[in-house]
Amino acid sequence: MEYSSQTLENLVKAFAKLPGIGEKSAQRIALFLLQEGTNEGEELARAILDLKANVKRCSICFNITDEDPCPICRDPGRDNRTICVVEEPKDLMIIEKAGNYHGRYHVLGGVLSPLDGVSEEDIRVKELLDRINSEVKEIIIATNPTVEGEMTAAYLLKLLKNRDVKVTRIARGIPFGGALEFNDTVTIAKALEGRVEM
Ligand code: ZN
Repeated sequence: MEYSSQTLENLVKAFAKLPGIGEKSAQRIALFLLQEGTNEGEELARAILDLKANVKRCSICFNITDEDPCPICRDPGRDNRTICVVEEPKDLMIIEKAGNYHGRYHVLGGVLSPLDGVSEEDIRVKELLDRINSEVKEIIIATNPTVEGEMTAAYLLKLLKNRDVKVTRIARGIPFGGALEFNDTVTIAKALEGRVEM
């Protein structure tokens, strides 16, 4: 048997289930945590428990946050006239990291995908429509340039067409089929700057 300890094996298996971590890395991390004189294991365990206990969704934009509303929705310095629509919190994070966008966000929580049975009721479309008031002048659709992302963008455009807002789509700096998260911040910043009206 590879592991002389079932406990160690359980932890290795648990780590190996995480995205981007193979069996070898999982083993290395588990053995590291076992080293005497380290309390990283305790810190890690506490951070994971805190994550589940404290992190919630912002009731306005549906970003992940410790406090509701989230820091972006609470920030009085951000521009209320634009809402940037993204698929997931990780997309919002990369746009924030790019640093050239100062408006508000809306996290859909997915994209339309008939094959996977994801319809408009499964993503936060109604919540987006409810947020559009007279102050909002532009909706930037920053879904990923995948088939589902484009389909979702087209669907949103159809819904927003008769509302008094400009609808724009981030520029094609991002290769089709790509994802926002795999692009560098310069590409993301350019894609936002070069957004075009739909
Ligand atoms: Zn928020």
